Amino acid sequence: MVDCYSAPGLMPFEQALETMLAAITPITDLENISLAASLGRVLSTDITSPINVPPHNNSAMDGYAFAHASLAKQASLSLAGRSMAGQPFAGVCGAGECIRIMTGAKMPTGCDSVEMQENCQVVGESVKFLGQSKLADNVRYAGEDIKQDQLVFTQGRRLSAIDIGVLASLGINKLSVFRQLNVALIATGDELKALGEPLGSGDIFESNSYALAAMLKNLNVNVINFGVIADDENAIRSAFIQADAQADAVISSGGVSVGDADYTKLVLEQIGEIAFWKIAMKPGKPFAFGKLPNSVFFGLPGNPVSAMVTADLLAMPALIKLQNCHPTPAITLKAKTITDLKKSPGRMDFQRGVLSYDHTGELMVNSTGSQGSGILTSISSANCYIVLPAEQGRVPAGDVVNVRLFERYFAS
Ligand code: AMP
Ligand code: MG
Repeated sequence: MVDCYSAPGLMPFEQALETMLAAITPITDLENISLAASLGRVLSTDITSPINVPPHNNSAMDGYAFAHASLAKQASLSLAGRSMAGQPFAGVCGAGECIRIMTGAKMPTGCDSVEMQENCQVVGESVKFLGQSKLADNVRYAGEDIKQDQLVFTQGRRLSAIDIGVLASLGINKLSVFRQLNVALIATGDELKALGEPLGSGDIFESNSYALAAMLKNLNVNVINFGVIADDENAIRSAFIQADAQADAVISSGGVSVGDADYTKLVLEQIGEIAFWKIAMKPGKPFAFGKLPNSVFFGLPGNPVSAMVTADLLAMPALIKLQNCHPTPAITLKAKTITDLKKSPGRMDFQRGVLSYDHTGELMVNSTGSQGSGILTSISSANCYIVLPAEQGRVPAGDVVNVRLFERYFAS
């Protein structure tokens, strides 16, 4: 692999993303699962509909079904039967007749329209139509949602709650999906303490693996958490070897800089193929990507903001590709910045902001304040990135900037 770390200058963000995605080969193993267990899973086949949805013409209202031509001749029709949901009228509705019908009930043979009951008056055995009934009013047609043999979903779709409803409406109860990914998480740092442990002098609570595990949950992967590994070459090597044996992807955080206790690069050169990149992005300059014997490897920077942003913008798209899933294009908008934005030319900035409307209905974005790479609340209080191109300098208040909405798996 190219060692871009030693290349002069920084690698542009888009190039890093593209190079990394090109190196990812999606998994091919399949699994058969029940529809009820399919939330967030990725379809391995196209789905075409075996039936029309709805399967039959039916009423959209509680009321009376009739042939519209009958009403042209008379305002009252005689009541000839009823059609309930699941208990259709078995006969034929003749001229001058109407049928009591409920929402969802099958349209009786001979009827083409329904009048809602609020516009009808029942007098003995006949029904007086008080409204201006129009032909085909309140009828839902067979196949108007989905036609038989229609392509409904394509391979690579991640199933949402509503997708599951759509598949149920087709009568599909078993699905073939790609198997779940196994993703190992490793936090490195002598100063990191797991929750529940006392903090000694100079310690901090380990937070990256908690946030990453939660983010990964939204991608529906199995997380194998290796917890905190000390800044020790042998301990890191042993953790990476174990993680590689169990996982499709290994994500570490910390130790990718060039400090005295940064062993990630050294260990990975020993056991895998690794590209260390200085990416022209802020936050997140040092980032490692590569391959271990059985898995792909992402080495995130340790600073929590840098770790989250590189996970979101680089590791997650790679994992989504590994899952065989169609990526959803990021939603970008233009908005006026309320405050000045600090920026020096050189790197692409992913500052965090809150997008909202001003009193005139125009989109505006407000910075979440200090953008330091240790200020994790700068992400939790945001709903978008303010994306500033590499060459951009300081942005004065009132300028229009590009804003990229957070992904659903990421933050608010
Ligand atoms: P490093 O990349 O190891 O030099 O770490 C950079 C900064 O991020 C240091 O201040 C670390 O204490 C902090 N850090 C590293 N890993 C974590 C983690 N898992 N959770 C919270 N902070 C971390
Ligand atoms: Mg460290």
